[in-house]
This record gives sequence, C-alpha cells and structure tokens, in this order.
Amino acid sequence: MENVILVLNAGSSSLKFSVFEAPADGEMRARAVGQVEGLGTAPHLKVKDGDGESIADVRWSTSEVASHAQALQQIATLLRSRFAGSVLAGVGHRVVHGGPDHAAPVLVTEEVIEELATLVPLAPLHQPHNLAAIRAVQEVQPELPQVACFDTAFHRSQDMVGQLYGLPYEYYERGVRRYGFHGLSYEYIAAILPTVAPEIASGRVVVAHLGSGASMCALRDGRSVGSSMGFTALDGLMMGTRPGNIDPGIVLYLIQQEGLSAKEIENLLYKRSGLLGLSGIGNDMRVLEASDAPRARLAIDHFVYRINRELGALTAVLGGLDALVFTAGIGENSMRIRQMVCQKAAAWSGIDLDAAANAGGGPRISRSGSRTSAWVVPTNEELMIARHTRKLLGI
Ligand code: AMP
Repeated sequence: MENVILVLNAGSSSLKFSVFEAPADGEMRARAVGQVEGLGTAPHLKVKDGDGESIADVRWSTSEVASHAQALQQIATLLRSRFAGSVLAGVGHRVVHGGPDHAAPVLVTEEVIEELATLVPLAPLHQPHNLAAIRAVQEVQPELPQVACFDTAFHRSQDMVGQLYGLPYEYYERGVRRYGFHGLSYEYIAAILPTVAPEIASGRVVVAHLGSGASMCALRDGRSVGSSMGFTALDGLMMGTRPGNIDPGIVLYLIQQEGLSAKEIENLLYKRSGLLGLSGIGNDMRVLEASDAPRARLAIDHFVYRINRELGALTAVLGGLDALVFTAGIGENSMRIRQMVCQKAAAWSGIDLDAAANAGGGPRISRSGSRTSAWVVPTNEELMIARHTRKLLGI
C-alpha cells in the first residue's frame, strides 16, 4: 500500500492541511489540500484534490466543532475514507518557533514538546496552536510519528553579529535575538533554484516572500545570511495588517501618552496596521490594486518603498546583488507590485525588467542583459514540510 504524509499548519482560528503521496522512488505530490477556517466562530471545511477540484465543503456550528482537536477528528474521518487504500506514515507540522538551537526539523517526542512549550512566550499567537495540533494527533493516533518543522530553522545559518540586538548582552542570552521567519518558504526556494534558475543558485540572492505576512531573506550560496523579520514576525516589511519595522519609541509613546495596554498594542500591531491600517480599505492586495482611493495608492506606494529599502539593506549584507526572487501570494501574482519594485530598484540595482516576461509570470522577468536578474518562483512550504517528514521517517 502507498504511503501518504499529512502536513498540518495550525493557526489561531484555522487548521490547514495537505496530504502528500510519498512514492518509494519519486517526488511527492499533493493529493488533497484543505483547511478548516472560522474555528470558534463559524467552522468551515473546504478540501480540494490534487487537481484543484472540490472534494468537500462542510459548515458546522461551534457546538459540533468547537476546537482544533475536533476539527482534526473531522478531517481524519474524511481522509480515512478518501485514502482507504493508503497508509498514513506520519504527520509533519509547521511550528513557528524552534528557538535558538533547532537548525533542522525534529521527530516529536515528549521532551521535544516540553522544550517547544518553553518557547510559547516568544510566539504566543502561534506556538500554542502548533503544539495543540501535535497533541490532538497524539490523541487520535498515539503511535503515529510526528515531525516538527520550524519557520526559524533555516535562518540559524546566520552569524551571531547579524542575530544580535543592541541591547544589554544578557537579553541575547535570554533569547532576545533575531530569529527570522518564513524559513520553510526560503528553504523551498533555495532548494528549487538550482533547477529553475541555476545561474543564480549559488550567488547573492534576495528572496521577497510577499504574502499577507511579508518578509525578505538574503541567500548566499543557498544559505540564509540575513532576514527582515527578527525576534517576532512583526519586524521588517509592512504587511497586510502588521506595520513591519517601527521605531520602538512609538510603543513607549502608546503606553505612556495614550495609555494603551499590552493587549491593545498587540491588537494594533498584529491586526489593525499595515495595508489595512494605511488604506482604511482592506489588507487584500487585489482589492487595493482595484481601488482608485488615494489611500489605497498610498498604502501600495509605502509597501513598495519598504521593499526597496529592505532590498538595499540586504544587498549591503550580501555585499552585492545577483538576483531578486519574488514569491508568495503577492509576489507570485501581482505583476504591478513586481513592476513597481523593480522600477524603484532599477537605478541602483541594475535590474532591467522585461515587461512582457513580467506579464507572463516568469520565471525570469528581467531582460537577458540585466546586470541583476529578477525572477518569479512559486513557493511550496507544505511540500518542504512533507519532504522533511519523509526524510526523518526514513520512507
Ligand atoms: P499569501 O499569504 O501568500 O496567501 O498571500 C496573500 C496575499 O496575496 C493577499 O494580499 C492577496 O491579495 C495577494 N494576492 C493573491 N493573488 C493576487 C493577485 N492576483 N494580485 C495581487 N495580489 C494577490
């Protein structure tokens, strides 16, 4: 019987999953991709097969499906009937934080769970849900091997100088350092560049992961040497609802002058800022691009301004730039944002955009003589997790 691997990505109100077939001698392929959204408010399961055809669309009340564990049970029932002829070999989890020491995925044990639980204060909005999903699988099928894949692990190749903050050193020792995130996405891109863009794979590359969360990573020879995100996923670029890098004095001002509580500031920084906060319209780039409201344009202009600024900083870290790679929802789909970024960076970076290639979606979107090349490479974090899981399970 064929092995399959389940990939889980648990958020605060959602549980995303994919099922990959893992043939003994070939690349894995997604056979089902789905998510339960609206956990706690209006649970809604949607599942598609590997070709994008819908195979389930179910809504529940919150009394029928109240928790991630109950959502997982529903998913398990559906998948058992759909994959009756297959063996579930293991589960790979996206875990946001691996702390300072995990530079690679690990097989889940009780000790690992306990260790990852100590990192909850570093990622209070994500880590508890990631761990809850691991526990939920244990309840449904205790013997099933599970693998934790960390969003921070890929950045552990960065040197200490780059991971420091200019705070008293004891804070570094207590874990206040630049961790970087979106590591599974960057690892996937680094792994596929030798196939998609061999001429840049071992060079100085900045990858722009532009989705509802957005960050950039400097790659040298396929290894992370710098990233725009830091201690938390709030740092760096402006995002859908997060401001990205701001003067920490603003947080003091909000506390001391405006009397905001920690919870109110958390809400402001994670949910009400970024494209949403600036435009006053929404956090969806498609909506902003379609709008002719002046503040939609302002939000887009600031989004691009920040990308260019971060690109300059990461280019300095790399000591030069051979290529810029766009990925994730906006990076893969928005011709306009790619064009704006490349035009803004053209004079200093030498990127010479090929408008027709950009409209076609790449992969190469710069002209052949361009000093620095530009690319569009779709990311696949789930496949990266499935690959890690298969490798650690030895199947
Ligand atoms: P992700 O978090 O990677 O799924 O990316 C979500 C973001 O991608 C949202 O801001 C979407 O509006 C944006 N996005 C998806 N498709 C497009 C598109 N065709 N044009 C512009 N933005 C897009």
